[in-house]
Amino acid sequence: MTRAVRVGEVLIGGGAPIVVQSMTNTDTADVHATARQAEALARAGSELVRITVDTPEAAAQVPRIRERLDALGCRVPLVGDFHYNGHKLLTQYPECAAALAKYRINPGNVGKGAKRDEQFATMIECALRHGKPVRIGVNWGSLDQALLARLMDENGKQASPLDSNDVMREAVIRSALESAQQARECGLPAERIVLSCKMSRVQDLIAVYRALAGRCDYALHLGLTEAGMGSKGIVASAAAMAVLLQEGIGDTIRVSLTPEPGGDRTREVQVAQELLQSMGLRAFSPMVSACPGCGRTTSTVFQELAQRIESYLKHQMPVWRASHPGVENMRVAVMGCVVNGPGESKHADVGISLPGTGEVPVAPVYVDGKKTVTLKGERIAEEFQSIVERYVKQKYA
Ligand code: SF4
Repeated sequence: MTRAVRVGEVLIGGGAPIVVQSMTNTDTADVHATARQAEALARAGSELVRITVDTPEAAAQVPRIRERLDALGCRVPLVGDFHYNGHKLLTQYPECAAALAKYRINPGNVGKGAKRDEQFATMIECALRHGKPVRIGVNWGSLDQALLARLMDENGKQASPLDSNDVMREAVIRSALESAQQARECGLPAERIVLSCKMSRVQDLIAVYRALAGRCDYALHLGLTEAGMGSKGIVASAAAMAVLLQEGIGDTIRVSLTPEPGGDRTREVQVAQELLQSMGLRAFSPMVSACPGCGRTTSTVFQELAQRIESYLKHQMPVWRASHPGVENMRVAVMGCVVNGPGESKHADVGISLPGTGEVPVAPVYVDGKKTVTLKGERIAEEFQSIVERYVKQKYA
């Protein structure tokens, strides 16, 4: 088991539930936009929100963002993302250092030569002074080039040199582990260190994290970097992370989706939650099982009902979460016809099997595995929604 790291009120690792996190894409110097997006991400279920801290203007506004979120009643811990000038910003803006709940340090972007160790140590000293944890976040796209050159050189001298991709993977792991060791030598306890080694290819991510998990007990942040847009980003992230999560590797995750222009940033939170819930690792909101439909369902009634129930549950969840604890575990089935409809519906908490083409125009409803009523006519959707609502009120009272 990994060591538990406390970030504000959130626990990462040590057997705690896997934490969902996300990152804003606003200019941090813009307090309103950043606070608004951080709140939206938190409302969607992001348990930590990372913000870019790249300029003095951004660092100066971090305490204001924290204040604004607090005023909105949003307690989500903010993580500062630092590259190149983190040592200066954290030192020169102590209010920023205090307002953040964790610092993300990329060891490949801390500095070069002798300055690298000194600047890294300065950031760790800030973490110690303010009592904060850090994430040592290696990204293969910004890997410490001096370390990579050293390992390539050593590998070249071996009797049977490794493939260059294997050396690159090893360099990513070493960068994380050596930086963590350096942080500990500066006095930072292991319980305040989270590691990540983000790769952009699925097989690289799996291989690197398997090796990393075998070589340390630090809490691990998982994520496929540069995952991409839309279904490609979702599929690649899920393919990589599901393998690792299934093996018990990963204490916190982020799905790094590129939003469509003007798209909703909270999509990445929804995908992360769905990944964890579909694997049975956490429950966030009721799951709707729906068949894909086929030639036996020629009308759109079935898709419309599935969509209606899905959005109804989503809409109700902010209220139900507090008033009906446990409702997130509910399973609802909306099925297209008699082939699989009754069977799937019986396995759900509440299920409906619609009439396929050519079937008797009735829709049996199952509650806790038993057929309770048969709906017919124009108001099937409304009546089924009422049945779901009654079930929630009774079962999760
Ligand atoms: S349950 Fe019926 S409608 Fe749905 S995919 Fe199966 S056969 Fe088609």
